Amino acid sequence: MNAPAFHPQSRKENLARLIGEPLDVLIIGGGINGAGIARDLALRACGTLRIGLIEKRYFGSGTSSRNSQLIHGGLRYLEHFDFALVKEALHERARLVKLAPGLVEPLRFVMPFETWFQRRYYGIGLWLYDLLAGSHNIAPRLNLSLAELKRIEPDLNLVGLHSAAIFSDCRVNSARLLLENLFDAARHGVIAVNYAEAAGWQRRGEILEVNIEDRLGGGESVVRAHQIVDARGPWEGGANLRLVRGSHIIVPALTDSGNAIAHFHRDGRIIFVLPWGPQNSLSLIGTTDVDHSGSPDEVSITPQEIRYLQAIARELFRDAGDLKPIAVYSSLRPLVAADGSPSAASRGHKIWKQDGVVKITGGKYTTYRSMSQEAVDLLAPDLRGRCTTHESAFTPARKPDTAEAIIQQAVDYEMAQRLADLMFVCTYWGYERSWDAEALRPLAHEMGRPLAWSDAQREQQIALVLRIAAIPAY
Ligand SMILES: Cc1cc2nc3c(=O)[nH]c(=O)nc-3n(C[C@H](O)[C@H](O)[C@H](O)COP(=O)(O)OP(=O)(O)OC[C@H]3O[C@@H](n4cnc5c(N)ncnc54)[C@H](O)[C@@H]3O)c2cc1C
Repeated sequence: MNAPAFHPQSRKENLARLIGEPLDVLIIGGGINGAGIARDLALRACGTLRIGLIEKRYFGSGTSSRNSQLIHGGLRYLEHFDFALVKEALHERARLVKLAPGLVEPLRFVMPFETWFQRRYYGIGLWLYDLLAGSHNIAPRLNLSLAELKRIEPDLNLVGLHSAAIFSDCRVNSARLLLENLFDAARHGVIAVNYAEAAGWQRRGEILEVNIEDRLGGGESVVRAHQIVDARGPWEGGANLRLVRGSHIIVPALTDSGNAIAHFHRDGRIIFVLPWGPQNSLSLIGTTDVDHSGSPDEVSITPQEIRYLQAIARELFRDAGDLKPIAVYSSLRPLVAADGSPSAASRGHKIWKQDGVVKITGGKYTTYRSMSQEAVDLLAPDLRGRCTTHESAFTPARKPDTAEAIIQQAVDYEMAQRLADLMFVCTYWGYERSWDAEALRPLAHEMGRPLAWSDAQREQQIALVLRIAAIPAY
């Protein structure tokens, strides 16, 4: 088991350390790509480089904690003949199961078919999926008759169905795996600070000067670095980026089989119903694909998206009830810009260097490790081939078993600053029930004690959580 990555004074101390001597590399953005690059670079450099990472909110509070929580090959990319991406993702899937046991776990998917043609068409896709996984496969696909489907998934609406298949992928707690990357990077010397926003940078000779705003009221400062990694994901803002919003709704469990459902909808999109929450007592349904033209800071589900996901769940399950969401979340895919429909846009990635800045766009959470490796090869070619994240497994600290201990761990060792950090990243409590101010107050009280929150500050923290958790009328 590992030593904690941070202690209660780490943020303050790390901010002061960032402002001191120039860094070799400053990583901007604490999503999975920033955290993955930080860990890969730190493991390979073995203490020979000064590496910093800044995140403008809490680590992982962007897309990397609000996705479909799958480590998967991406069956639907086969339809776009993206075989190289699927193969890479399937190999990364196998690697992550090995490196992050307990965080990445196999999950069985049931895929219903409406016609004989669908069974043949998607059957070929599943055959190819097994083939591309090769020796890294989790379990081979299985065909199911209608009677077998009824036995395995008795809650599915069988009317109009022809048959089904079963295949395997993996699920992940994407916020936790990201945090484990970041904590390990910190243990290997990365100076990480959250609520520190890069407000711009300029070159002065050999050095890049980055203006940093301390979003917890500490003012502005300048951090100097020889190289920068721009891992701002959806906030990168360049012409290379296409922002596509994906939203999920969370409802009481639609099936208690523990299986996921993968449904190819007639609009050509794949919708997942995934087991979610304590003892799989909830279902996570997603996702949508909508071009997003607003600010990346303002991302929320629309009433249309809620109705779209509900309508599909209603078709799939006999007793779906009113499907009133208990929670919802949305985030943005930072995709490489291309024409065409948002769901058909490539999930491939682009990593390039421009004026001392390594930029990273596109890709999937599943392939973060190989993308990080590619970025580090570009940043520090002399470290190429050194021991990398291929071999280094995660050994997370033991999960505390009471709410009080989880809160204490978040504040003391995980650099959580706000109640929202605890609710939506350190834990997924925010997505596990409907919250009101009354229910949040004991948590705010517990978290506010070590952070010395006044009554008014506690109420502000609660209001922020309720704003993030708000569900629009639909
Ligand atoms: C709805 C949805 C579902 C998905 N499902 C899956 C899935 O199941 N499996 C899969 O493999 N992939 C999935 N993906 C894709 C995957 O989640 C993303 O590709 C990945 O999380 C992107 O990570 P990132 O680090 O680039 O971005 P982010 O996680 O958004 O991180 C960028 C970070 O940079 C910070 N930042 C921005 N500007 C600044 C600044 N100026 N200074 C400091 N910090 C800054 C942000 O606050 C943010 O935390 C999904 C994507 C979406 C949208």
